[in-house]
Amino acid sequence: MKGRIFSGMRPTGSLHIGHLSVIQNWVKLQTEYESYFGIVDQHALTTGYEDHLDFKSLNREIALDWLSVGIDPDKAAVFIQSHVQEHAELHLLLSMITPLSWLERVPTYKDQMQQLGKDGGKDLSTYGFLGYPLLMAADILVYKADTVPVGEDQIPHVELCREIARRFNHIYGTVFPEPKALIGKVALLPGVDGRKMSKSYNNTISLTASTDEIKSKVQQMVTDPARLRKDDPGHPEVCVVYKFHQIYTPEVAQVEDSCRGGKIGCVACKRHLAENLDKLLNPFRERRAVWEEPGKVEKVLEQGAEQARRKTQETMKEVRQMMGLR
Ligand code: SF4
Repeated sequence: MKGRIFSGMRPTGSLHIGHLSVIQNWVKLQTEYESYFGIVDQHALTTGYEDHLDFKSLNREIALDWLSVGIDPDKAAVFIQSHVQEHAELHLLLSMITPLSWLERVPTYKDQMQQLGKDGGKDLSTYGFLGYPLLMAADILVYKADTVPVGEDQIPHVELCREIARRFNHIYGTVFPEPKALIGKVALLPGVDGRKMSKSYNNTISLTASTDEIKSKVQQMVTDPARLRKDDPGHPEVCVVYKFHQIYTPEVAQVEDSCRGGKIGCVACKRHLAENLDKLLNPFRERRAVWEEPGKVEKVLEQGAEQARRKTQETMKEVRQMMGLR
């Protein structure tokens, strides 16, 4: 094993194809690292404490999505963050040593305050929201993870985590490694309407989409507006269908050539993409059907939490001792 990783996702609804590259990266990493994958339900509360989310079904849904893509509970611990209480305890203890200014300067703090707070109508003037990067740091450090798979936008969070680990080690003695970010390739897919893919825009393709749903979503994709007839030369660089072909169609060069040369119509080109997306989702559907059998996901989450607790309890014993809490 190359080391130990922690990564997580908020349970905010079933995942879409835009999340796929992240989970597929985890599927690869689970064979190379001791892996902990957490459904971070407490994080969902930091921006949505008033939403009264149905965590029981949301947690089950996201676990099913992960397992259907290929996360293997024999290789990785899959669990719900709030079922492993040491995350919250370490968050509390680290809050004692974290300067407020470190949290206030995290770039996403101001961005999200604007987007979700002022523009989105959410109350973000809470400690929970200011402190969510610290909860993330606790999520990582409680496993003494040395590596954190993240997208580029998460680098400041890993930096903060490193600073907090360093500060704790300096004050109380060395307990934590300083984890490094492992930047995964994230396929940036637009939504079917060309805007950012997001459930709030209703422009996503769900990982559980049926063949007909895929066809209908691909039908809605925006193409080159300059192409009025089938034999007009096209400009694939402005076409949403082509952006998907670039990721999911092995013969993408042929698609580009046919489009530019006016040798293929958009209807046929969309049909080709819909078939490829359907093939992509097929193995996920098969695996999902197996995991959906009653009690299976619950067992995975229970065993995952037990496995996670074995590690976190060890860490917390050490942390409490170092801080004089015996
Ligand atoms: Fe887009 Fe394909 Fe139409 Fe070209 S032929 S504009 S790539 S849908």
